[in-house]
Amino acid sequence: MRPPRPNAYRDTWAGAPRAADAGGEVRVAGWVHRRRDHGGLVFIDLRDRTGLLQLVFHPETAPDAHAAARDLRAEDVLSATGTLAARDPANVNPAMPTGEVELDVAAVQQLADADTPPFPLDEERDLDELLRMRHRYLDLRRAPQRDTLILRDRVNQTIRRALAERDFVEVETPILTRSTPEGARDFLVPSRHQPGAFFALPQSPQLFKQLLMVGGLERYFQIARCFRDEDPRADRQPEFTQLDLEMSFVDEEDVIGTTEAVIHAVFEAAEYEMPAPPWPRMPYDDAVGRYGIDRPDTRFGMEIEDLGAALSSSEFKVFSGALASGGVVRGINAGAREVARSELDGLTELAQRFGAKGLVWAFVEEDGGWRSPIAKFLSDEERAGVVTRLGAQSGDLLLIVADVPRTAAIVLGQLRLELAERFDVVADGHHEIHWVVDFPMFERNEAEERWDPLHHPFTAPEGDLDDPGALRSRAYDLVMDGFELGGGSIRIHDLDVQRKVFELIGIGPQEAQERFGFLLDALRYGAPPHGGIALGIDRLVALLAGWRSLREVNIRESIAFPKTATGADPLTGAPAPVDERQLKELGLRAQAPPRTA
Ligand code: ASP
Repeated sequence: MRPPRPNAYRDTWAGAPRAADAGGEVRVAGWVHRRRDHGGLVFIDLRDRTGLLQLVFHPETAPDAHAAARDLRAEDVLSATGTLAARDPANVNPAMPTGEVELDVAAVQQLADADTPPFPLDEERDLDELLRMRHRYLDLRRAPQRDTLILRDRVNQTIRRALAERDFVEVETPILTRSTPEGARDFLVPSRHQPGAFFALPQSPQLFKQLLMVGGLERYFQIARCFRDEDPRADRQPEFTQLDLEMSFVDEEDVIGTTEAVIHAVFEAAEYEMPAPPWPRMPYDDAVGRYGIDRPDTRFGMEIEDLGAALSSSEFKVFSGALASGGVVRGINAGAREVARSELDGLTELAQRFGAKGLVWAFVEEDGGWRSPIAKFLSDEERAGVVTRLGAQSGDLLLIVADVPRTAAIVLGQLRLELAERFDVVADGHHEIHWVVDFPMFERNEAEERWDPLHHPFTAPEGDLDDPGALRSRAYDLVMDGFELGGGSIRIHDLDVQRKVFELIGIGPQEAQERFGFLLDALRYGAPPHGGIALGIDRLVALLAGWRSLREVNIRESIAFPKTATGADPLTGAPAPVDERQLKELGLRAQAPPRTA
């Protein structure tokens, strides 16, 4: 950091002094990180945003300052003036960047008094998260929390710079708007001027960015706040931030190339080891087939194999029955692992939790036999066929699921992650990033007798619109270590195609006009071919800062003021009841009594 402008409080940062500065007179300001009374001497580690500096108070040479220091408590705010002194070699602290020096304090001024904080700020340990959130302003004084926000700023600046170099224009789109379908529930804001009418907070700026392309802006971006009223999870928040961008007269290669350049610049700025672009592309069918999920963690094997050919005429009805009724039998080779019976039961429970009827496990033995509850139901050839297919060797644990394809994929995909986590198979610092492409355009929703889009309904289809089940979309998702960083697509810019897609997903012409008339109208006035992408900033920063396990990213750590798992803010107490008068103005009546706690 550049030095601060010298004023009454300070002329240097606490984290700045080095051995070469010894002998200099400086003034620093900050918080009491830690205080130690050592017989005659008082030591204070002073903290500001840049780090820690040891202050020393001598009773003989600076009796007033020393007396004042004895009264200081953790988190009190002060300004101190003195002389930087080289520490005795025996007292050098290599763990502190300023550890070769200390400040011999001549004068100290207390600027604010602090109550005892509800949790200690001077040590790294797990703290109650609710307590941290309620006092987030204290939590942010801790180095990992503060540094994550500083990293987030660096990420944003890098993005802005990289996009400015590519002639993107930053445009802010409305927060009070109409619903954009991204597959979640809307947050609604009642209108006072039109009682009974509501704004929706944007689930994404999707429609506005498309309108900006119709408006001729050519290249748009925004670091945009989005709102989705979903049940929060560790890696979801009701409000979150996306890097949202859109380009005109482009195809997939343009958007993918731009995104790779920007995100690669971010990795470099964050000093994060990641292969240089171009990043590999994996078709959706491969991702789901081999890994059971559309955002596969490709850093380890245990790929899913189809065992149908080996088992189609098996006498074991669970297998042959599933195959005969259009299902699949698939499995993974978990490798040579010591897994206790109770752990196998745990894996079976996990499989059931994700919808499987059961889970078959088998250990391959020396002689090619199996130790497995179903060993006796399979012939030698069938076992050998499975072993070959899974590339198994003696000692390997095989896990097999017989079910409808979708359930088998989900269950094996989850088991794969569970085992990788349990056996710690991914080396620290090993990261992979790739695109998933060639998505189906729709999924059949039998219950509602319609097609549901895999992305949003503005994504351009590829193929014959009269055969919706076979349509692909021109979408692409960016996946890092098994987490989706974001996704986008080339859009529909033809009015008839857009109408037809609405129809297929069950939005008739009248409803389409009511909800999206503004978009349909815009498409009449010369819309350029266009496409874009959105990338989750909270998730990206949390990944870069290491707030993650193999299966979960904790995005709360990358957000300055995050919400809890129930979407509440313990700091401000939001959401909160409002008074009758406000409701009346809005033409509303609250039905449920406001919930406390
Ligand atoms: N609007 C999409 C989303 O928020 C991203 C995109 O298609 O650009 O997920």
